[in-house]
Amino acid sequence: MRRRRPPRASEQRYISHAAIGFPLTFEPLPFDPETYLADVRLFQQEGFGAIYLIDDERKTVIETATSWEVGRVLEAIRAFGLKPEDIDALVVSHIHLDHAGGAGFLLPEMPRAKVYVHERGHKHLVDPTRLVESARQALGPEESEFYGTMRPIRADRLVAVKDGDRLDLGKHELLFLDSPGHAPHELTILDERNRCVYTGDAAGLYFPGDEILMPIAPAPAFDLEKNLRTFERLLALEPRALLFSHYGPHVHPKEAIEAMMVAYPAWARIVKEKLGTLGEDAVLRELYEMSCRAAKRYSRDFLERRIRVSISGLASYHERMERAAPGR
Ligand SMILES: [Zn+2]
Repeated sequence: MRRRRPPRASEQRYISHAAIGFPLTFEPLPFDPETYLADVRLFQQEGFGAIYLIDDERKTVIETATSWEVGRVLEAIRAFGLKPEDIDALVVSHIHLDHAGGAGFLLPEMPRAKVYVHERGHKHLVDPTRLVESARQALGPEESEFYGTMRPIRADRLVAVKDGDRLDLGKHELLFLDSPGHAPHELTILDERNRCVYTGDAAGLYFPGDEILMPIAPAPAFDLEKNLRTFERLLALEPRALLFSHYGPHVHPKEAIEAMMVAYPAWARIVKEKLGTLGEDAVLRELYEMSCRAAKRYSRDFLERRIRVSISGLASYHERMERAAPGR
């Protein structure tokens, strides 16, 4: 294992520049010469949907955003100087629509590409009917509009990934890690060349600039205990940076993960103790005060929408636990 080193001052400057710039085209990250980040304006919000490109011998795109962002993903690839036909691999951290929704729409433009997905998510990309329906139920009709839809992917264009699998890109080698909690089909991905970890939604949400770190605990399958074990695993990797899907690089991984290890149980407790008695709006206010007081760049409405997703996810987690072990 390579020795960990503190981030250089130049990286710090870049990060704060990126946080202000939110690049629409692929811009270099400071960790190696091949890794790039683009902002695809997920949910029409700047600095929320990150797509990563590894411009190695095998060209790889990490995350695909929703079906709504497909045009912007292709635009960013072309503006970078590649053709969609050049892409060899699409990696999705998990199968939620804001990560994997674009994949089925991108593939016809990318005849060489295969989609790398957690083995537990594989069948849902072949037939996304139940997945799209379950997202609609979990998010409600209004919010689910933003998540677009999915197109089935032929099994021969999918690669089912399990814990410990590797993908050799040339200079870079990706190591896939089973990372349940946010969802049972969640992967985190360690790039062994730069020791950065793509966290998907396994490490929560990061709002750069405002420096907000926020849990994301959606229905129907969020599992607090499993997510806490995933945090332990991420800490043990001693990564150089966390590459959040929402949004961008965080160069103090230990601090970020430790903050999440406090925030997740705290949010879970507040929902458990207060949702029934005080109601959703009061819980929403408390969680906003707790995590988002520093918000400037991101609007209150946008942040509150994210928090609501976690309130209903945590409520359904507690119900599931209660059913499994009454009186807990
Ligand atoms: Zn997700």
